[in-house]
Amino acid sequence: MLSQPTATTGRPTIVSKQNSVAFSRESKTAGGVTHTIYHAAGEKPNLEKYPINVDPKILVPHPATKHYWRYAIQYALWNMSHILCFYAMYKSPRIWTPLAIIAHVGITFFYDQLNFALGHLLLHASFATRFGTYIKRPEQFNYLVYVAWKHHYVDVQALGEYWLQYRVSYIDVCIWHPHSVLKVPVHQYLLPFTYFWLAFDLWTQGEATSPLQVDYLLIYMWRHFQAMTHEYYHVPSSRQSTYFCFKPFYWVFSLFEVVGVTDRALHKEHHADDRNALTMVDHFFDMWVPKWVDELFTVYWRSRVAAFQLKELVGSPDLMKDDGSTRNEHIFFLTISKEAGLGLAFLLPFTLFICYLMHGMMAIAEV
Ligand SMILES: [Zn+2]
Ligand SMILES: [Zn+2]
Repeated sequence: MLSQPTATTGRPTIVSKQNSVAFSRESKTAGGVTHTIYHAAGEKPNLEKYPINVDPKILVPHPATKHYWRYAIQYALWNMSHILCFYAMYKSPRIWTPLAIIAHVGITFFYDQLNFALGHLLLHASFATRFGTYIKRPEQFNYLVYVAWKHHYVDVQALGEYWLQYRVSYIDVCIWHPHSVLKVPVHQYLLPFTYFWLAFDLWTQGEATSPLQVDYLLIYMWRHFQAMTHEYYHVPSSRQSTYFCFKPFYWVFSLFEVVGVTDRALHKEHHADDRNALTMVDHFFDMWVPKWVDELFTVYWRSRVAAFQLKELVGSPDLMKDDGSTRNEHIFFLTISKEAGLGLAFLLPFTLFICYLMHGMMAIAEV
């Protein structure tokens, strides 16, 4: 039996055997875990014989290579927002006590990890179902999504090709996937809005009128570190001190690695199956979270792949087809898009609500 959508609701339902596609299963053990990979019948690939091997020359260039000035302006504002954020804390010492700063830096750190991993699930759902479209119609994707695909499956050094566009794409990404309900890249607008609102308050009132202005910019500080963490993982150790030419960034990342906030070895495991399969992915976090949180995301991914009996494209002729995804693959992608998208959409207001409660509790404790 296979989960298939009905034409009217678009929701997966069980259909009769004569309409279902026959799948064959193959097991592969990686990192001590056995994965089940599904293939359409008659296309059973030999994973050793058909590793992914995309010639970079056949890729159509992504249009993000233009618009350099738009990215430069956004990146300058993003960097300035960190300075403004800490300046606002300094100017409001009654609200931003050292304890409050530690608590809010911690909360926003966890927000950013969950936000990243939910988006990462979505990326891999897209990679596993639209591989050929990345090659032939890259303009279909946000630059971060495209370069993450290229980094996984074509050239691991792709992140550094247009590093400015790569970093800024972290704030260009929509909260919901473009195929879903909300197509607006919310943060691209919220970041400058918050920045100018806070700057105006500091200028006219001498302090931040809402602590949430600072919380929101703290979220953006972590997002910046999130973007650079991935670059840090892939710059060879010998080049790290020159790649991060602004030395404080290099020092911060060296400290992160020592205390375990970042883990290069764990990120290598995330890439372990890049050449063999699109459905075998784990370790969706780039920075530290409790182990069970990391495992929860991996279990979610595997359960969705199994529930939809997602066909493994590696080794099949469909790998290079432009949008050659079947109805089942499309529904798999939409399901992850909606479930992860829902998490992403509620995570930001939820985090800001927690921050708001924390400020309230601290104000009561002070009285
Ligand atoms: Zn990945
Ligand atoms: Zn990587």
